[in-house]
Amino acid sequence: MENLFIDITEKKIFDVEKIRKDFPILSRLVHGKKLVYFDNAATTQKPKQVIETIQNYYSNLNSNIHRGVHYLSEAATKEYECARKIIQNFINAKHLEEIIYTRGTTESINLVASSYGYSNFKEGDEILISAMEHHSNIVPWQIICQRTGAKLKVIPMNDNGEIIIEEFDKLLNEKTKFVSIVHVSNSLGTINPIKYIIDKAHRLDIPVLVDAAQSIQHLKIDVQDLDCDFLAFSGHKIYGPTGIGILYGKKKHLIEMPPYQGGGDMIMSVSFEKTIYNELPYKFEAGTPNIAGVIGLGVAIRYVNNIGIEVIEKYEKELLDYGSSLLSDMPELKIIGNAANKASVISFIIDNAHPHDVGTILDREGIAIRTGHHCTEPVMRRFNIPATSRASFSFYNTFEEIDVLAKSLKKVINLFN
Ligand code: PLP
Repeated sequence: MENLFIDITEKKIFDVEKIRKDFPILSRLVHGKKLVYFDNAATTQKPKQVIETIQNYYSNLNSNIHRGVHYLSEAATKEYECARKIIQNFINAKHLEEIIYTRGTTESINLVASSYGYSNFKEGDEILISAMEHHSNIVPWQIICQRTGAKLKVIPMNDNGEIIIEEFDKLLNEKTKFVSIVHVSNSLGTINPIKYIIDKAHRLDIPVLVDAAQSIQHLKIDVQDLDCDFLAFSGHKIYGPTGIGILYGKKKHLIEMPPYQGGGDMIMSVSFEKTIYNELPYKFEAGTPNIAGVIGLGVAIRYVNNIGIEVIEKYEKELLDYGSSLLSDMPELKIIGNAANKASVISFIIDNAHPHDVGTILDREGIAIRTGHHCTEPVMRRFNIPATSRASFSFYNTFEEIDVLAKSLKKVINLFN
């Protein structure tokens, strides 16, 4: 893959302009203006390496995997399994079979809630989540609580949008059977102290799932170091295609868990009397999967690796600091989510302006931000607001784009005040 750094003497300098050339969509115009894409927490744009891989897959390789003995099927299977290895290395999973392909974070969490939850929870058990969860880390647990009689408990947060850790300590008890926690909040940007949470839960032998939908693309994740039991993320938020996601699970749990869905590929043998399930990871991968999506995700992760996740983290932090300082200078604008430890997400409200109006006006300037409750209605309720506007940055964004945002926001403020 192409070198994405300019080498000046020994020092590697992050070359954002060179990186931007890899993302065709970033050079398009919207309403006659240069696109400023700040909706990265909803989905990220794709580099040409991913786009070309998908095109090449359908042009030259398209075939069903695992079943054929012919050339195309074997070649597609090889690429498909090679991506699993890339993902294993990326999160440092101990075993290859701990990497399960799903449709996304949502399906990964549903898989665990349904399979692990249904076979382990009973009346009176408690499941712990936080007050800043995305709906996809709330509703699957509510469904399983309804089915098993377990109760959902919620760790509260403070006015900065940080988990109140003493409350977490108090909520953990012998009734707690599972903790499911978001690593980075999509609506506040808060980075949660997941290592502390995992350590503390493990002292009581309680498994922990980490929702890494908003952290996998920003922070280094090492599942062995974290020692989490499960980790879920989506391909489309880390520069890969939609419709593909990952569930990492510790082998000891995955072996014990019953299948989530039945069908082709997840079986060893089937008769009307008895079906023997396939080994891991295939036990959890029923039916023809998103083959192009898997291969595209592998390339996306290689792309991220080529830049280096630590380099990404550092650059995005600079973007966040710059954006936060410009926006904090506007008295009519209030940032929602002021945690000490944040990823590159800024949620805000503007006096007298509804977030949807803010989003619509910015759109006319070519700026894409997200407005609404961001699938975190309880967060909005906690802050007593109906919605926020949210700008979320990626490594392909620039300081100049943040200037454009700040300038347009000043116009919005003048208009409504
Ligand atoms: N969890 C968090 C924190 C998210 O931000 C999102 C999506 O925005 C999800 C879960 C769900 O991800 P997906 O819709 O890709 O399954």
